[in-house]
Amino acid sequence: MAVKTDSWGRIDRRHRISKPFDPNEVLRQKSWLPFGNGRSYGDVCHNDSGVLLQSGGDDSIIAFNEDTGLLRAQSGLLLRALLIYLANKKWFPPVVPGTQFVTLGGALANDIDGKNHGKMGTFGQHVRSFVLHRSDGSTLKCSQKENRRLFEATIGGMGLTGYVSEIELALMPVASHWVASKNIPFRNLAEFFNENSRQETANHYNVAWIDSLATGDNLGRGVMMVGNHTDREKSPRYAMPRLSVPFTPPVPLVSGVPLRLFNNAYRWSKSRVRNDTVTTPQSFFFPLDALGHWNRLYGPRGLHQHQSAIPETDAEMVVEKLIRTSQQAGAGSFLTVLKRFGAGNSPGLMSFPQPGITLTLDFPNQGERTVNLLNQLDDITIAAGGRVNPYKDQRMSPATFQAGYPQWELLEELRDPRANSNFWKRVTKRRIVQPPAMESGSSTQRVNQARKQDVQKNPVINKLEKGRNALKSESS
Ligand SMILES: Cc1cc2nc3c(=O)[nH]c(=O)nc-3n(C[C@H](O)[C@H](O)[C@H](O)COP(=O)(O)OP(=O)(O)OC[C@H]3O[C@@H](n4cnc5c(N)ncnc54)[C@H](O)[C@@H]3O)c2cc1C
Repeated sequence: MAVKTDSWGRIDRRHRISKPFDPNEVLRQKSWLPFGNGRSYGDVCHNDSGVLLQSGGDDSIIAFNEDTGLLRAQSGLLLRALLIYLANKKWFPPVVPGTQFVTLGGALANDIDGKNHGKMGTFGQHVRSFVLHRSDGSTLKCSQKENRRLFEATIGGMGLTGYVSEIELALMPVASHWVASKNIPFRNLAEFFNENSRQETANHYNVAWIDSLATGDNLGRGVMMVGNHTDREKSPRYAMPRLSVPFTPPVPLVSGVPLRLFNNAYRWSKSRVRNDTVTTPQSFFFPLDALGHWNRLYGPRGLHQHQSAIPETDAEMVVEKLIRTSQQAGAGSFLTVLKRFGAGNSPGLMSFPQPGITLTLDFPNQGERTVNLLNQLDDITIAAGGRVNPYKDQRMSPATFQAGYPQWELLEELRDPRANSNFWKRVTKRRIVQPPAMESGSSTQRVNQARKQDVQKNPVINKLEKGRNALKSESS
């Protein structure tokens, strides 16, 4: 059956063939891809030469131990349903993204990160085990102890190693779901970098919104939003949006004058909020969920999101360059987010976060013009030793992807031969031997040197070598 299965960016909208997951479909279909709730921005959740296997119907909580916080659930369980179930308990998912409308399977396969990466790392770090279905008919329990290679490749593996049907997840003990929050305005990037480390130590959650249009001494001004769970008797509500964008306007409403007005109003409203306010979890974690279908505001051609992870070395300079480049292209970003990634220790082979800073920019899709800008942002990121987030992407080149994820060939070796995605076909269609030189001159040499050091320190790349050796010994 062909049904509309979009992703959040709405760039490539079409009817796609999808079926509810059933172990037989994994054997029967020649090409397939697991599908959660389509909250990825781009094409990691699409496979236009195959069938999407939807987890949506399999959304039960199988078991929950209130003493240990260990949850066993089907992969189609929505985060929102889990939060409602936990609302009166002193347990909370250890990592939540900016929307409650993701499935546990999608959170695992994209190894999502939240506002607490510095404290809790990624979602995958809290996955104890899962059940994986492969097209050779095997149903495997995967954990750090059993089928470890597949465990590591599936976390952040974008659905390519098989279909995950059940997940065992360790939840986080909390005083309650409510958050004591503070908003801390900063005047520019230098102020952000000065203040951020201090706030990180004092708070479990920490994220900043940036006014992408501010220039000169105010470049990078914004508001840090920090918080900690706090004790409160009353169970919070996780409501569905009361307001929704009813149709797609013919032009984007999030650029030009409306964008400038929004940025000023948002900064003003955040700067006025009283400090140490007790905030509902819904408004602290998922403010965007308050407006249903807000992605329609980007107009009929949809939106691109660009999320880069940049090593700490020169991060301030690189973030400034990324923001300036988008300003010079005349493309202000609507929802610009800056936060720090901690050391983390995800078992995920392909996990996106790396220690340093992450900047998220999003732009209405204006065709080639936007793609050219995104390519420039890629080049800046890669030259700084960073990487671009595949889970938000719809157009990254093989060169950008392979430079950021030199371990990709290990995932290719473990990929289920019948699982594929539009994203994977695009970024692996040719093998790039040498990462391209992105810039010239002495600053490039410095950046490349920094990159080399980061690569040497990068546990994921070290894991690549270990993984290769393990594969060799497993197959011999
Ligand atoms: C408003 C908004 C805010 C967001 N904020 C964040 C954020 O703060 N941090 C962050 O990291 N991400 C964030 N995201 C992105 C989102 O969290 C991820 O893309 C998430 O993976 C989407 O989950 P999904 O269930 O919709 O999965 P889909 O988008 O449907 O699929 C995602 C991937 O998971 C695979 N997959 C899905 N189910 C299974 C399964 N059962 N077995 C194996 N593979 C499976 C798919 O093949 C695909 O590759 C945000 C997205 C939105 C729209």
